[in-house]
This record gives sequence, C-alpha cells and structure tokens, in this order.
Amino acid sequence: MKYISTRGNVSKIGFIDTVLMGLATDGGLLVPEKIPQISAEKLQAMSQLTYQELAYEIISYYVDGEIPENELKELIEKSYGTFRHSEVTPVQKVKDNMYVLELFHGPTFAFKDVALQFLGNLYSYIAKKTGVTINIVGATSGDTGASAIEGVRGKEGIRICILHPHGKVSKVQELQMTTVHDESVLNLAIKGTFDDGQRIIKELFADLEFKNKYHLRAINSINFARILAQTVYYFYAYFQVAKEKDINSLNFSVPTGNFGDIFAGYLAKRMGLPVGKLIVATNENNILERFIKDGVYQPGEFRSTYSPSMDIQVASNFERYLYYLLDENPEAVTAVMDQFKSEGKIAVNEEQLRQVKGDFAAYGVEGEECLNTISKYYAETNYLLDPHTSCGVAAYETCNDSSEVCVTLATAHPAKFNESIERCDIEQTFPEQINQLFDKPQYLEVVEAVNDEIVRKLEKHFSSSPLNVK
Ligand SMILES: *Cc1c(COP(=O)(O)O)cnc(C)c1O
Repeated sequence: MKYISTRGNVSKIGFIDTVLMGLATDGGLLVPEKIPQISAEKLQAMSQLTYQELAYEIISYYVDGEIPENELKELIEKSYGTFRHSEVTPVQKVKDNMYVLELFHGPTFAFKDVALQFLGNLYSYIAKKTGVTINIVGATSGDTGASAIEGVRGKEGIRICILHPHGKVSKVQELQMTTVHDESVLNLAIKGTFDDGQRIIKELFADLEFKNKYHLRAINSINFARILAQTVYYFYAYFQVAKEKDINSLNFSVPTGNFGDIFAGYLAKRMGLPVGKLIVATNENNILERFIKDGVYQPGEFRSTYSPSMDIQVASNFERYLYYLLDENPEAVTAVMDQFKSEGKIAVNEEQLRQVKGDFAAYGVEGEECLNTISKYYAETNYLLDPHTSCGVAAYETCNDSSEVCVTLATAHPAKFNESIERCDIEQTFPEQINQLFDKPQYLEVVEAVNDEIVRKLEKHFSSSPLNVK
C-alpha cells in the first residue's frame, strides 16, 4: 500500500512516512493510492470480531506489513485498553430503526480519543523504532487538544503544543487541556477562532524548512492515521446492528466540522461496507450543508454555537473528498484549490453536484433546534444527547426515511458540554474524572493569533531539554 498526495506532487510513500508527513509537502492531503476492497464474504467473516480484532483487520490493509503483526496488535490493545467500556464503541438502540454509536468512552469523553489514543501510541512506537523526534503541533476547537495531550502525555520522545481559541471552548474542554502539568505539553490560547489556529498550523506545515528543522508532526485530521482509526467503528456499528436486525444497508448521521469523521465513513463505504446515506450534520457554521445542497463551497460568517467542536468554516478534510469527486485527478484538485485560495470559493458543475448528492445528505441545525432535540430525547427516551450528537440526531430526523435504519454518531459525552445541557434545564451528574478537573491548577499562555508570536513560542518549546529516546 502506497500513499499519494491529492495534488500529485509527492512521490509515493508508505504508511509510516505518511503518518510522519501529516500534511503532504505539496500542500495537499495524503490518500491511499488504491482503496482496499473488502468482499461480502470477508465482511461476513469480520462480523463477529471484537473491536480490537476488527481494528487490527481494517488497519492492517493500510499498514501493509510495515509494523509486524504482534506489535500492531499490541499497539491496538494499548490504545483501546484505556476505554471505560469493554466494547470500546458500543451501539445503543434509542428507538425503532434509530441507534447511537457511543464514541465517548475514552479518556477525554469525546470521539477524538478513538483516533488519538491510537496515533499517540503509533508516534511513540515510531519514535522508539526509528529514533525520529516527534514534536506535535495542532489546532483544536476543543476536543482534539485534550485528546491529543492525553494520547501522548508521559510518552518518551514526544513534545506537544496545542493552539485553542481563547474563551471559545467549553469549560471542561479547557480544563482537560490545561490542567496537565508536564513539561512536554504547551497550551497556547490564541485570541481568535479555531479557523485562525488551523490556518496558522497549515502555514507552519507548509513552511518546509521550519517543519523539517523542528520535526513537526500533525495530530489534526489532516493526518491519515486518524481517518483510518475512525473507519473501524463504522464497520463495528454495522455489525452490531446487523446482529439484531436484518439490514441490507445502514445510514449514518455524523456531526461534522472538519469533515474528518464523515470522510472515514465515506472511506468505509468505498471499501465495501453497505452504507446507505451518509448524513452530514452541521450547526450554523454550515458551509458543508450549503455545498451539498447547492454545489458551492464558500466559507460564511463564523458563528459561536452550542456545539463548539463543530464551529469550523474551512473543513480541512474536504480536499480528500474533492479528490474522489474529481475522479482522482490531482491536476484538477490543484486547480480547484488554487481557485479557492484566490476567489474564496469552489463551485462544482451539475454532474458533480449529482454525485455529491448521491454520496451525502445534509442538514444544518440552528441553535434552538439543537437544544430542543436534547430536551425532546431526554423526555421521550431518557437518553441524554450532547449538543453535537443532538445536531446528528436532528439531521437524522430530517434526512432519514422511516423505512431506513440509521446510526447517529454520539461524538461526545454530555458532561463535556454542560453549558448547553443547563440551558435545557436538565441536571446531569458528572463522571468522577470530570469532577476532579475543577480543583486543578491550569497551565496555558494567551497569545495573539499571529504566526510570528506562535513561531517564537514553538521554537522555545521544541528546543527545550533534549528528549530521551531509548
Ligand atoms: C471534532 C468533533 C466533531 C467534528 O468532527 P470532524 O471530524 O471535525 O468532522 C463533532 N463532534 C465533536 C464532539 C467533536 O469533538
């Protein structure tokens, strides 16, 4: 298995180099040269596996022997051993034909742990194996930061710096990131939005001299390993629902920000999983909904919402989908992305729009509807949705036909977003791990959202005491 860039100017590389490169050096995103195809028979054989066994099977197609079997298995065991639920990502039936896939049983109570526990262990494995330095830098809308720090803290040979938008993340998200006292961890709170942070990170990675000098590594979902780890639970959810229901295909409703999670679903479908509709659920930051409805991809005004982890205007993984939409033609992707840079928008033609509508349904949830959905499900089913999952459920209600079976991805635990739950007049009990955070001191620096200042902080952090790699 080799990996190539969506823009065509990176020579083919293997899995580990793909993980280390993060953003492709030509500014594109790395994708597998060919998507592995899983036959119906093979799917049948996989259907009884545990989460960890299934993860091994799926991930193996992409690692393609670069990590020996026993070491890859160990890495997967370690990554999912930190989850509080024995099934890792259990499926819960909420109503007839309606399920949620609970992705929040990891250390930081959001779905990002599924990928970042794996990526943290993978980086640690690579550092030990090859002696390369791992300096991670990433931007977060709240959950990635906590999850990435949790994924790498205390691991030898790894330093991390996370940019989060100052004052624009939930209290629990902020505490999860900033109460970690470890000299390998630097939290920068930028005076700006997530999009500012993401743009700065993209620019740092595009500065190859800086990237190479400081061995910058990515943990955002531009890193293909994250997408890969997330494809596993689409398969897992399908098999769990199929155990209790005769299904020919299954819809998924996915709370979407950076298009990473939904792209993992798209990949699972392309691999042969019988996925019906992939429903893109957004909040008022609805660039993706507008694209799927009108074929025009154009950032709008940034809005702060009840679902802050989806407050994103420019979806970094969108380019991966564009690559397939444009028939895997890197010149066409480059032309379109150049146009996006100069004109600020992308418009697809009619035929392409038909394809988009065949691949996705979409619904953008407006504020009150998010809260109303939380209240309604709590009253009717006693199931407490977090505000992101609530957007997914509202989109399911709009886009799913009554005869179809749908799984909504529950991307976070409601305790992470109590600000929104309180607005619904619902009192929840916090898990002990979250309660404990409120007594701890915080470690962060507030900075302007400008490259120079952030570069200075990074240089200092990444030049501090040499790390021991055994
Ligand atoms: C990150 C996040 C999302 C959006 O996921 P993407 O992969 O960026 O589309 C949705 N919900 C929660 C709780 C998140 O943390």
